[in-house]
Amino acid sequence: MSIRFDGRVAIVTGAGNGLGRAHALGLAARGAKVVVNDFGGGRDGSGGSMTAAEAVVEEIRAAGGIAMADGADVSNFEQVKAMVDMTTAEWGSVDLLCANAGILRDKSFAKMELADFAKVIDVHLNGTFYCCKAVWEGMRARNYGRIVVTTSSSGMYGNFGQANYAAAKAGVIGLMNVLAAEGRKTDIRVNTISPTAATRMTEELLPPQALALLKPESITPAVLYLLSQDAPTRTIIGAGAGSFAVVKLMESEGL
Ligand code: ADP
Repeated sequence: MSIRFDGRVAIVTGAGNGLGRAHALGLAARGAKVVVNDFGGGRDGSGGSMTAAEAVVEEIRAAGGIAMADGADVSNFEQVKAMVDMTTAEWGSVDLLCANAGILRDKSFAKMELADFAKVIDVHLNGTFYCCKAVWEGMRARNYGRIVVTTSSSGMYGNFGQANYAAAKAGVIGLMNVLAAEGRKTDIRVNTISPTAATRMTEELLPPQALALLKPESITPAVLYLLSQDAPTRTIIGAGAGSFAVVKLMESEGL
């Protein structure tokens, strides 16, 4: 793949594991300086440590890349703002935002507690809003920005047990459509991707054969394309098998 990110500064949220980790490694391998954000909270978002993010930073540095770890909780605007301010102070800008932090609290609607709903909305929808809000003015001022958010087919079609997650992701898709529209007169491009990959989030949902095939790294080329100079203005790279078709197409085209 010929895409390079030399001179670009990226923040990848939820980058301690799974998709975020794969995207952070991919960005760093292609020259970006990467903030590896993860609050280390576990799949239900109960909180933890920055160890996972620090391990990914070590991996990037061992491969000759440039990265720093950050433990901001994306559902806390003050912490998100501090992460963006720290990045700007250290590296001058935030050019690329890959918002990938996420949790699941799947339960049937009958059993879903108010707290399960609120928590998932907080991390996915409010968290995405906070991250975009914190980088938006800087991107506008510099007339450059690329934002990619991991969403889900659940946000388009719904899914059993995911009233909270589906509502949050539907909200994220709407939010991104607005940002794409409002950014259109500047060189800011905003996209979402709805992949199916084997991560901690999906390990209980997908059959073992699928888990073996759906490596998070196979989604990364599509995300790197959406974060590149040539990114389209608004694409919903679709659910499941569809995203793999896009990856194949892009690989065959050398993107
Ligand atoms: P996926 O790769 O499918 O997004 P993972 O569970 O493997 O799923 O990765 C999601 C990451 O997001 C985890 O490492 C988790 O610690 C992180 N995360 C979850 N909630 C937050 C949050 N509020 N702030 C920052 N990171 C978070």
